[in-house]
Amino acid sequence: MNREKSAHLHQQAMDVILGGVNSPSRSFKAVGGGAPVTMERAQGAYFWDVDGNRYIDYLAAYGPIITGHAHPHVTQAICEAAANGTLYGTPTPWEVKFAGMIREAIPSMERIRFNNSGTEAVMTCIRVARAYTGRVKIIKFAGCYHGHSDLVLVAAGSGPSTLGIPDSAGIPQSIANEVITVPFNDVEAFADAMKRWGSETAAVLVEPIVGNFGIVTPEPGFLDAVNRITHEAGALVVYDEVITAFRFCYGGAQNLLGVEPDLTALGKIIGGGLPIGAYGGRKEIMEQVAPLGPAYQAGTMAGNPASIRAGIACLEVLQQPGVYDEFERLGAMLEAGIRQAAEKHDVTIQLNRVKGAMAVYFTDEPVHDYDAAQKADGELFARFFRLMLDEGICLAPSKYEAWFVTTAHTEEDIHETIAAVDRSFAALNGK
Ligand code: PMP
Repeated sequence: MNREKSAHLHQQAMDVILGGVNSPSRSFKAVGGGAPVTMERAQGAYFWDVDGNRYIDYLAAYGPIITGHAHPHVTQAICEAAANGTLYGTPTPWEVKFAGMIREAIPSMERIRFNNSGTEAVMTCIRVARAYTGRVKIIKFAGCYHGHSDLVLVAAGSGPSTLGIPDSAGIPQSIANEVITVPFNDVEAFADAMKRWGSETAAVLVEPIVGNFGIVTPEPGFLDAVNRITHEAGALVVYDEVITAFRFCYGGAQNLLGVEPDLTALGKIIGGGLPIGAYGGRKEIMEQVAPLGPAYQAGTMAGNPASIRAGIACLEVLQQPGVYDEFERLGAMLEAGIRQAAEKHDVTIQLNRVKGAMAVYFTDEPVHDYDAAQKADGELFARFFRLMLDEGICLAPSKYEAWFVTTAHTEEDIHETIAAVDRSFAALNGK
């Protein structure tokens, strides 16, 4: 596949944009380097790059594009918003409607605030939890990524671990000292950490279904135990549902799993492809925030009509009957095809999937935590990633990222993808 223009643009980009990319996970560093593909157009389940090559997209912009690219209903909402002024700096009717839709879907979010990214949403949840409890420490789980704010970039997963940077430079040790990291799905390790630090802990931060070292579900009882132990210590449970909300059902993973946190952070899907974040939770906790309380959080762009109206339109698409059943149907079809190809070509994989979100690990060990995900073969993944790219299938350039099926993917796309996986696995095996 010819990608000359991509290569040329990357050269130009390197000269003016730091590292040639506006987010490190877009670089091909984790898959052996070279020019990333520069995309020019996206429609439905497809991308076209600057050289005119077409790709089936499973990156979905790292999660937000659940209705596919340029969904007409979402596009119309964005155009209407743009035509009526993109930023007011005042309350608007759409933010009231949208907050109502979110609360109806995720009842634990009794009061909600919109902001501009998942990073901001999580960062503010931590501030609110600290304000409410009067404590400082945070407990998080290894490999879970919660954005790039100082507090949560400690033993983070996703981008940082892919790039081999467990902690970022520029984060004071004094801040890292306030963050405790324990393995996901390990109740004993969590209970031990809480025994030691529970009385100083403001919040326990959890991805209820992990989306940052592939896709990893909580073992039965794990989240219940986290809730119980955290509350016994007088700390708050914060769910980071930036990836999970509205992905597996119309609501949060918390609805699906029947567990309720005190605070929830949202992002990605709820912006319909435009920048957004949101956080919310129990009324008396949220009342810590200005103008009602002493914890400060603000945003010039927060609640901008374009993001809000795109988000409403996106959720309206997801409200259509059968959407999540279709994710399950297509996801199961893709899973079965990949498993069959792996068996046929003797390629050892683990495949974790929930509905339309899936992860393929090149390892013989089941993946329930970050340790196991780290053991997956990154070189094999890199070869697979490039073979798939040449087949016209766009995955994220990291062994830790998930594949996302959107409402735009069809059975034909899935068949085309399975055929590409089959040929790629054959090539991996030297056949
Ligand atoms: N939390 C989770 C679970 C995420 O996956 C991400 C982004 N991948 C974030 C927070 C940060 O969101 P953003 O990139 O919008 O700041």
